[in-house]
Amino acid sequence: MKSFDVAVIGGGLLGCFTARSLCRYELKTLLIERQEDVCRGISRANSAIVYPGYDNKPGSLKAQMTVRANAYFDRLCDELDVEFIRRGSLLLSYDEDCDRVLEKKLRHGLENGVPELCIVSGEKAMELEPKLSTMPRTALYCPGTGTVNPWQLGIAAYENALQNGCEAMLGTSVLGIEKSNDSYIIKTEGEEISCKAVINCAGLYADKVREMLFPPELRIYPDASDFLVFDKCAPRPEMILFEERPKGKALTLVPTVEGNLLLESSLRELESADFAFKAERRAELVAQARAITDTVSEDNIIRSFGAVRPNLRYVKKVGNEYVPCDKDISSFALDRPEPGFLSLMGIKTPGLSCANELGIYAAKTMADYLSAGENKAFEPKRRGISRINKLSKQEREALISAEPDYADIICLCEGISRAEIKQAIARGAKDVEGVKRRLGTSMGACQGSRCNYAISKMLEVEK
Ligand SMILES: Cc1cc2nc3c(=O)[nH]c(=O)nc-3n(C[C@H](O)[C@H](O)[C@H](O)COP(=O)(O)OP(=O)(O)OC[C@H]3O[C@@H](n4cnc5c(N)ncnc54)[C@H](O)[C@@H]3O)c2cc1C
Repeated sequence: MKSFDVAVIGGGLLGCFTARSLCRYELKTLLIERQEDVCRGISRANSAIVYPGYDNKPGSLKAQMTVRANAYFDRLCDELDVEFIRRGSLLLSYDEDCDRVLEKKLRHGLENGVPELCIVSGEKAMELEPKLSTMPRTALYCPGTGTVNPWQLGIAAYENALQNGCEAMLGTSVLGIEKSNDSYIIKTEGEEISCKAVINCAGLYADKVREMLFPPELRIYPDASDFLVFDKCAPRPEMILFEERPKGKALTLVPTVEGNLLLESSLRELESADFAFKAERRAELVAQARAITDTVSEDNIIRSFGAVRPNLRYVKKVGNEYVPCDKDISSFALDRPEPGFLSLMGIKTPGLSCANELGIYAAKTMADYLSAGENKAFEPKRRGISRINKLSKQEREALISAEPDYADIICLCEGISRAEIKQAIARGAKDVEGVKRRLGTSMGACQGSRCNYAISKMLEVEK
């Protein structure tokens, strides 16, 4: 039986960053992910925002982590060679009650130490974002709000963890966990693994993994968000826009690092387990969004999808059933029923922003428990794949003369070459989706109809 110091269950953003942070210590680490690739759960369908920290209760762990994470994000993305853009954000208020919500958020933000946060008039908001279609009453302006590609960030952390000695078992489901003396025995479809500590980062299934060893206490009750993606050729706002409504934050509009506009509506109740986007919602969402910016049009939608949020609640036993006994837990739930078992459970927004902070916290907790020393050889820098479409004409010519496959453009919408796709496959992409997540192929207007066949042929040869 293979043995490790720490096993991380789940290769989403949290698992990948936890694995990377564990490599900063003298610890033999294993990441176990049931999908064939990392970042295929919640981490691949979210709003891609790096939050500044005004939404969170002053003094809370969430507030502290978010503010710290936001301040560190440029450096983190520089280490991992991932694009990050501070677009700035406006939280828009269209009525008096919402003005008061903005004032409260301003107070919270200032207490939390969010820099340059202020409330601006409707006129000033229109000046900051000329693509607003209706003048708001007021807006909470935050220059530090940013955006990053979530799965590229997670994949970068994963690659950096591997580069620093972490081992990974992909395509492997954890089916059970047992305690044997001071060790945990992790059961999979294939082999059993022994480890001294477990960090449960199983996202929507973190409650199931916890229940492999402990009685039910916390359970995940999902709800859904709807997303629309607009063609990058269409006009769009430059800033991240949040709409405050009496029922809470309604629409969010994000100009992504790739240049598309992403629209999220988070007010959908989850009927049954079906979180797929309902086509009839398109027109309704576009009409809602046009009240904020009339750059949005149904004609420019290139993709729609639904995403699931892992709401966490305490449960109690009633008869033979466990039923929720409290409202959603809004703080970060870092559950540690015994010293060697830590769960990062029900981590919703801002889990992307705080993935590095949460990973640092989880790794330090287990390093202290196992009295592990620092790994002085840890290398935080990871180099991404050189991207032909980001280079100047001169740089492109130099790259093509060194590697002629850079001249063979396979993804015409996004300008991605055969050389880049070959590197993505060499780095672990096993299918068309894996190439897409590493490079952005099939994310343009044609959604893969022109390149996916060629990519699948390359996968047959290169894998
Ligand atoms: C709609 C939505 C919008 C969001 N927007 C933002 C945002 O703009 N900014 C922000 O900061 N945060 C945002 N978040 C939060 C952020 O996306 C999440 O906090 C983060 O992605 C959680 O990552 P994770 O690693 O916990 O989960 P996941 O990405 O789901 O990873 C869990 C992994 O565990 C694996 N797994 C499960 N069970 C097992 C098992 N038995 N064995 C092995 N592997 C297993 C799964 O396959 C999965 O890959 C948003 C979340 C949602 C839902």
